[in-house]
Amino acid sequence: MKCVLLCLFSIQLLIAEEVEKYTFVLPGDSRLQEVSAKVSLEELQSKHLQEIIDQMFLIARGERSDMEKGVMVGLAAPQIGILKRIILVDTGVEMGKEELGQLEVFINPVLLKKSSTIVMEREGCYSVADCLCGIVPRSESVVVQALDRNGFSLTREFSGMTARIFQHEIDHLEGIRFPDRVGPDGVLHWVKEDEYPEYRKNWQQWKVLCSWSDWCAMKSGKKHN
Ligand SMILES: [Zn+2]
Repeated sequence: MKCVLLCLFSIQLLIAEEVEKYTFVLPGDSRLQEVSAKVSLEELQSKHLQEIIDQMFLIARGERSDMEKGVMVGLAAPQIGILKRIILVDTGVEMGKEELGQLEVFINPVLLKKSSTIVMEREGCYSVADCLCGIVPRSESVVVQALDRNGFSLTREFSGMTARIFQHEIDHLEGIRFPDRVGPDGVLHWVKEDEYPEYRKNWQQWKVLCSWSDWCAMKSGKKHN
């Protein structure tokens, strides 16, 4: 019994170490504004790169365990300080539904097509201040080309929420975050963590605004909320 307990303890320690290897960089970190590098086929086959992908899944799944918080539906490698063109996207989630879909990894993703139909929707991000959200214009549907983790090329079409997540995550690979897409004439909101359920219902009428200059200060690392 003692041995079993010890093994379990060791496994737990191992998992804890794995999760701690990479963490979210702060919103003012300059890496979030850099362009990430393409992953070569040779690099993709390496143990190191495959470990990075595993780490990204571990981090994202950890964040998804608490549905009361802002829910993680996508993750880009630069958000955890890795300047490589790797993203995770929940390809099954739908706006307004409580259930999550399945996270998938996409390497070197490229948007081959973006629909001319633009949709305004709310977005948040783990790489801006905790409580910052905004109304972001995005194409309603996209065609994505990428590699899977085994190096096979894929081309798929997505619409709605999933198309939005792809645009958000691929922006991270270019050093762009959602407030940059909102722009100085758009709408940024402050939303406290315990206000998220209300925000999901009433984001269009939200009254607590964040100014463009506050976002610029945050981005340059001068200010945190
Ligand atoms: Zn983000």
